[in-house]
Amino acid sequence: MLADPSPLLLDGRLVPAADGRTFPTIDPATEEVLGHAADASAGDLDRAVAAARRAFDGTGWSTDVALRARCLRQLREALRRHADELRELTIREAGAPRFLTFGAQLDAPVEDLGWFADLAESYAWETDLGRAEPMGMPSLRRVVREPAGVVAAVTPWNFPHQINLAKVGPALAAGNTVVLKPAPDTPWCAAALGTLAAEETDLPPGVLNVVTSSDHALGARLVADPRVDLVSFTGSTATGRAVMRAAAEHLKKVFLELGGKSAFLVLDDADLKAACSYAAFAGVTHAGQGCAITTRLLVPRDRYDEAVEITARTLGRLGPGDPHDDSTVCGPVISARQRDRVEVYLELALKEGGRFACGGGRPADRDRGFWIEPTLVTGLAADARAAREEIFGPVLVVLPHDGDDDAVAIANDSPYGLSGAVHGGDPDRARAVARRLRTGTVSVNGGVWYGADVPFGGYKQSGIGREMGVAGFEEYLETKAIAEGTT
Ligand code: NAD
Repeated sequence: MLADPSPLLLDGRLVPAADGRTFPTIDPATEEVLGHAADASAGDLDRAVAAARRAFDGTGWSTDVALRARCLRQLREALRRHADELRELTIREAGAPRFLTFGAQLDAPVEDLGWFADLAESYAWETDLGRAEPMGMPSLRRVVREPAGVVAAVTPWNFPHQINLAKVGPALAAGNTVVLKPAPDTPWCAAALGTLAAEETDLPPGVLNVVTSSDHALGARLVADPRVDLVSFTGSTATGRAVMRAAAEHLKKVFLELGGKSAFLVLDDADLKAACSYAAFAGVTHAGQGCAITTRLLVPRDRYDEAVEITARTLGRLGPGDPHDDSTVCGPVISARQRDRVEVYLELALKEGGRFACGGGRPADRDRGFWIEPTLVTGLAADARAAREEIFGPVLVVLPHDGDDDAVAIANDSPYGLSGAVHGGDPDRARAVARRLRTGTVSVNGGVWYGADVPFGGYKQSGIGREMGVAGFEEYLETKAIAEGTT
């Protein structure tokens, strides 16, 4: 399905970079070079944006709902047809544990394309506000929703299909054209999408462009391009700030999905064993490389030692392991750079007075690949940097709380507000605590909020706007009011 080197998708054609440059994509579990991807230059990006602009301004794409729905369903079919290859690719390129590819790492976002096709068909594109006489002028008023235009979609490496498709799906369903710039660590997942879009769908030239590059500067160039109408960005909060600054120059719409340091609250009436075991599993899934992963575990002070013991015991059983194995929960981290970043935080945690109840570094039995042991940090103050900043590795920090009010205060005392979890014996009480968390999503007693129809996003420095759901679709729309004079 995918050529090596993988091509760019520019204006409907699968092409190499104009200057022929390529860059390697690496298996993080083995450090093996999987192959190469076209390394786009500024000139290639320029062609992609020009093609997207032409397709939006000069074709019927933006108004043809039936064509859009058909193309999205064709794309879903193509991705389904190649699911086995894509599964292996995702495991190898992103280091994603196999079990996750049956959910958010592959199958779920592929199926979600159908939800966006259905939504485009059923959506109320126009609302009749009826007749009114503002300032004595009889008028027939109508509100029309229209696509925003050319969308720059810039994505990270941790859930490549989920995040690429959660942007491409609703953006195209809404009638926009897209330039997708994926992370340099996972170019093949994006190139596979571009290849299937070109070869197995009727998507008109220029509607979807996929520009892989080893250079982060290409992302910066794309979001600053005056021909782009809307920037849809997922990545770190630091980069999100740079994106917003760049977009300010032309006052583009920006939609940001950023980092998190979400809290897992165990209330004093919870089943401690069940809650802490679940927190351990949730915290190190995909080596903790999920923006919404709950990495601050808040437990009742008088049961702190017991909670540490349960959590550490579970973490000790959770790997890290070969992502190809069905039973692996915690695979490798994506790169040497990411492993080094996690290790800096582990050192910092010790300097800040923390201790490791388990893990704390690289596993002794692996000399290839980028690995960190599932780690539980105890003894930190809630305001320690390692307890407040996003680590993006398989590292949980456990903190004591003195009851529901205190737990809520600690959870909310964060620059982030992406997600959270509450476990308690009394569902009413757990629900009430969940409502007090200032986050975009909350799980109560193991509930799963992930789904095509559920808006996902953050409060505070975790982002602006929502992805998925009707709210996510509407991020890609403009609103126009039309008033017609009448008698
Ligand atoms: P990153 O911010 O380094 O990079 C993300 C993307 O932005 C990449 O494609 C990169 O090339 C591009 N980029 C880099 N500099 C840019 C610039 N100045 N202008 C425009 N684009 C630029 O993030 P990452 O390391 O790839 O991913 C990890 C981060 O992503 C974590 O902080 C994580 O929490 C966050 N994340 C958030 C969500 C969410 O939905 N909230 C989901 C997944 C990951």
